[in-house]
Amino acid sequence: EDLKNEDLKDIQELGQGNGGSVKKVEHIPTGTIMAKKIVLIDAKPSVRKQILRELQIMHDCNSPYIISFYGAFISDPNICICMEYMDKGSLDGIYKKIGPIDIDVVGKVALAVLEGLTYLYDVHRIIHRDIKPSNILFNSKGQIKICDFGVSGELINSIADTFVGTSTYMSPERIQGAQYTVKSDVWSLGVSLIELALGRFPFSEDQASDDSDLEDLQGTLSPGKPMFGAGQRNSKEDKDRKRKSMGVSLQGGARTMSILELLQHIVNEPAPRLLPEGRFPKAAEEFVDSCLLKDPEVRKAPKELLVLPWMEHSRTCNFDLEAWASTF
Ligand code: ATP
Ligand code: MG
Repeated sequence: EDLKNEDLKDIQELGQGNGGSVKKVEHIPTGTIMAKKIVLIDAKPSVRKQILRELQIMHDCNSPYIISFYGAFISDPNICICMEYMDKGSLDGIYKKIGPIDIDVVGKVALAVLEGLTYLYDVHRIIHRDIKPSNILFNSKGQIKICDFGVSGELINSIADTFVGTSTYMSPERIQGAQYTVKSDVWSLGVSLIELALGRFPFSEDQASDDSDLEDLQGTLSPGKPMFGAGQRNSKEDKDRKRKSMGVSLQGGARTMSILELLQHIVNEPAPRLLPEGRFPKAAEEFVDSCLLKDPEVRKAPKELLVLPWMEHSRTCNFDLEAWASTF
C-alpha cells in the first residue's frame, strides 16, 4: 500500500524548480501516472521524518481545485512527493507557448485559485505561500488546480528561497518582513493574473526605479526573515557584479532588473495594473486592482474576492476550457 521508489518508473522530466525537479512517472503496481517531485533537503534524519509526517496532511486535502496527493517518502538524501499528474502542465508553460491567455480563461483561473485557497484556509488553516503561474496546473479535461502549498512548516524552513533567475510574486508586506497571511496569497494571485493576461511578468523595465540606493543583499532569503535593514555597503564594482549575478530576466523587457531593484520597486512604486485601460473588461480591472492593494489591511481575503462581479461572471461564463485545452 505504501508508495516506494522501486515501484515508480520514470517516464519524462517535467521541469526543474529552485528546490528540486519534477518527473512524470508510472506507479507500476497500479498503472497510475503520477508527478514525482524530488526535493533535496539538507537536514537531519529526524527533521526529514518530521517533514514526512507533516506532509501527510495532504492526504486530507480533497478539493477539485487542489492537486491530489498519492504519498511521500524519503529517498536519501531527497524527499519525494507524489501527486496527481496534470497533462497540460503549468500556466507559465502555457502562456510561454501560446502567448497571452484569453481574459475569460484568466477569470476561470482566478476563480479556481480562490476556491482552492478558501478551501485550504477554511478547512485546514493552510496558507499557500507560493501562488504563481508555475504552481497553477491545467489538464486536458479543462481542470485548473493549485499545487506546492505550504503544508509543512519544517519543509518551508528547510528550503531557502533562492531568487536567482526567478521572478517574485511576494507582497510588499512580506518583503518588509511581515508574517504570511491569506492576503499575501491574494497579492501573488493578482501579479499572476496580470502575467497571464499580458503574456509577460508585469514588472517591466520602464517601471523600474533607479538603483542609486542599491544595498547589499544575500543571494538567498530565509522565509520569515525581513529583507531590509541588514544590508552592508559595498563598492560600486561589487554592486555591479552582484546585480548581474542576481539578474532577473523579465520577458519583454529590454534589460534585466536585479532582484533587489525588483523588491524595492514592489515596496515603493504603485502596484501593477491590467493595462492599457479598456483592453480588458472593467470587472477584471477592478478585481485585479483589489488583489493588488498595497496595504494588506484593506486588501480583501480570498473568500471576499469570490463575491466580486468578475467572479460572478467567471462562474456563469460558458467558455469551454476542455475545448480550449485541445488547441495546444
Ligand atoms: P519554483 O521551484 O521556483 O517554485 P516551479 O514551480 O517551476 O518553480 P517545481 O515546483 O519544481 O518548480 O516544478 C517544476 C515544473 O514541473 C513546473 O513548472 C510544472 O510545469 C511542472 N509540474 C509540477 N507539478 C506538476 C504536476 N503535478 N503535473 C504536471 N506538471 C507538473
Ligand atoms: Mg512548483
